[in-house]
Amino acid sequence: MNPVSTETTTFASLNLAPEILRAIEDQGYTKPTPIQEQAIPLVLEGRDLMAGAQTGTGKTAAFTLPLLQKLLPLASTSASPARHPVRALILTPTRELAIQVEESVKAYGKHLPLRSLVVFGGVDIRTQTPSLMRGVEILVATPGRLLDHIEQRTVQLNQVQMLILDEADRMLDMGFMPDLKRILALLPKQRQNLMFSATFSNEIKKLSDDFLTNPTLIEVARSNATNDNVEQKIYRVDASSKHALLAELLSTQNVQTIVFTKTKLTASRLSRLLQKDGVAADAIHGDKSQQERMQALEAFKQGKVTTLVATDVAARGLDIDQLPMVINYEIPHAPEDYVHRIGRTGRAGASGIAISLVSPEEEKYLKEIEKLIKREIPQENLPQLQTRPAREHTREREREAPRSATPKPPRKSSDPWFDRPYEPEQSSSDLPLRHTPRTSSKAKREIPALLGGLLLKD
Ligand code: AMP
Repeated sequence: MNPVSTETTTFASLNLAPEILRAIEDQGYTKPTPIQEQAIPLVLEGRDLMAGAQTGTGKTAAFTLPLLQKLLPLASTSASPARHPVRALILTPTRELAIQVEESVKAYGKHLPLRSLVVFGGVDIRTQTPSLMRGVEILVATPGRLLDHIEQRTVQLNQVQMLILDEADRMLDMGFMPDLKRILALLPKQRQNLMFSATFSNEIKKLSDDFLTNPTLIEVARSNATNDNVEQKIYRVDASSKHALLAELLSTQNVQTIVFTKTKLTASRLSRLLQKDGVAADAIHGDKSQQERMQALEAFKQGKVTTLVATDVAARGLDIDQLPMVINYEIPHAPEDYVHRIGRTGRAGASGIAISLVSPEEEKYLKEIEKLIKREIPQENLPQLQTRPAREHTREREREAPRSATPKPPRKSSDPWFDRPYEPEQSSSDLPLRHTPRTSSKAKREIPALLGGLLLKD
């Protein structure tokens, strides 16, 4: 799917106010993406929506632009909090996605006198209270923190006329259903509901039955499909050779990359190992403090970090324009996570590469992924790597057999699995080089909007 429309629909033809059109122009968008083309007229009509769209399709603008348009007649320049009740509530599963969505609301609404605010957990609730009490029309929130504010009576939701559930599937995965039910019970019955989800499951259909009224279903890609502009490939490789292959791919590709691991521990270790390899790497996962995660994301956004090692908790909501490459260092056990992971690249019509390193033990997960995306992922030939013994035998074998002639300096990792020496052979990867390292101001422009997607419940 190419999310940039080939039709002649323009933003101007979508009945949006001049102030909104000006903000769109400021963003540099020339035409609506398909999800925007479909959703905007329906939202303006007041319909409930069940929209199947993954991050990267322009879904945030698809709900934010008509939302702003609908609230515009209610905008007030009065300082009185009573004139700024919460009229639109946007719920997201993660704090980073919440931040990102609210930044979009601010950007698209920058010429309008509407107030917006984001509230999420993990920070002192008292810092959020004054702004909330001053009154905001558009509130972006993670469910847990919103409930805290409700309990503290720092927010009233009795004038909400639009509810947006963003990444609803992930909210369910994260167990937010009880929180959602509590919040929804506090909203006026008469309201418009929009639900966005990257994947459609039976649970999502049930959620839609429970919370939406006669919704229109729109989909910009087959549910559970992957972007056509993401070139997917796999390498079949022993677990013990994955680090060597990764180092080879990173060095031959030399592009901004997110590397996904299954566990926090692997993410941390791998990031440290890559740093020792001379790669500007950092890790983001749930054990890092909010400040550490934001710093890592910011450094990646600025190009100071070129390889971000992330767990699945970071798979959602990362908004990086034109991220050229995603590598699955470990294959996710839930096939939907694969779709989310590779959705980090090939965004808004740009092309991208998604490479998966599949060990024999992971074949079964690959099969499930291929079943889900309804296609076989082409296999690449392995570049010549120095294969090392399997993890459990590493130490013994290394004692028996001396390392080969030109070893790299030994690493100090305490885990033998990560301790394999690596000697790059000649570059035999034939993957095309898409990007050069980001040092120029243009490079910075190419990843302008990275904000996280750590799936931490607040
Ligand atoms: P989203 O799916 O909302 O996370 O958006 C993905 C990316 O597409 C963001 O970086 C947006 O700034 C960008 N985007 C949204 N709408 C458009 C558009 N009409 N044209 C070009 N880029 C867009």
